[in-house]
Amino acid sequence: MKIEVGTIITPSSIKDNVTIKTKYGKGELYIETVVYPGFSDAHAHPQVVDVGKPRRWKNSYEWLKYRRLRVDETKVRKDSFLSSKLARATYILSLLEGATLIVVTGNIEANLNAAKSLGVHPRIVLTPTIMEKDGWLSIKEFIQYFFKNYALWNGYWSPGIFVHSLGLTSPNIIREAYYVAEKLGVPLALHLSEGITEVDKLTRILNTSKANVIAVHCISEPKECFKITRGIVHCPSSNLYLFEETVKEIDYISALGSDWPLVTGGIYSTYKMAVDIHGPNLNLLRKASYGGYKLFGVKWYGDFIGFDEPLEKVISGKAKLPCYVFVKEKPIVIERSIKNLGLNYEEAKRIVRESVKEALEKYPI
Ligand SMILES: [Zn+2]
Repeated sequence: MKIEVGTIITPSSIKDNVTIKTKYGKGELYIETVVYPGFSDAHAHPQVVDVGKPRRWKNSYEWLKYRRLRVDETKVRKDSFLSSKLARATYILSLLEGATLIVVTGNIEANLNAAKSLGVHPRIVLTPTIMEKDGWLSIKEFIQYFFKNYALWNGYWSPGIFVHSLGLTSPNIIREAYYVAEKLGVPLALHLSEGITEVDKLTRILNTSKANVIAVHCISEPKECFKITRGIVHCPSSNLYLFEETVKEIDYISALGSDWPLVTGGIYSTYKMAVDIHGPNLNLLRKASYGGYKLFGVKWYGDFIGFDEPLEKVISGKAKLPCYVFVKEKPIVIERSIKNLGLNYEEAKRIVRESVKEALEKYPI
């Protein structure tokens, strides 16, 4: 396919009147603005369907302890069929919001099977959550899973590890996960400093002043988190929902994460919220696009999204949804509809609502 582009923004340049040729797709196309790579959702929990009422929680641990959920999360996560359904809804919504990369935690088999059964999805980094609790993966199980799926790790799919947090994961498990991630050369992410200062504890546990980890949230000490980690994933929607507070300085943000895509929306919704907080900013758009790729070390060739509005409108988050989404040069979304599935955004939102409703009704508390 031959695409004439009005303006293209890449990690290092902005150019006008550019032609892109893709291996897949036929004919010719004009796109006013192309963001290359597309949006990267650097942190998403596809199986989260309820988060309790918004309240000004002190920190994530207080929220996890006292929140009143309407649904039994453990049962949802253990239900592979339902978990897959929720992951499918997440991928569909994400594609239509312009995600060409998504990093998912939660039920890893379900997240994997959902993508396989859909056939179309953004590039995926699968980061199973490691915890010493029923229903979560152990380090040993992660290693087995890593080698069992070894043929899959081709950049379209990538492996990673997620340890929940310093408060809910023992120091030994964190150290073990860190060691295994380094050995296997996979990224390691964790929730950090979410309403509580944890940088000192992390440096003590890992015995280093510069940890090769990706930190998620970091609202309490963004500067310190940024300094000692590989980078910060900023999740403005969940931060504001739980704490009425979020990272303010754009310099400390490496990428954006939707966190709860089925509850608060996908990555374009997250970008819009970030623009409301930080103001329209070209740098912010690049963090929302290239940021996640860089953090998780994912290739981005052939991943881009097209808007039928000028770049200024895209930067300001005021443009309509992207009309085109290409992943690995393949046109996945055409004129705001997923080509293979014939789904538009309204239908995707209906699928999200129905899947969430099913989870709430099946496993109520
Ligand atoms: Zn999270």
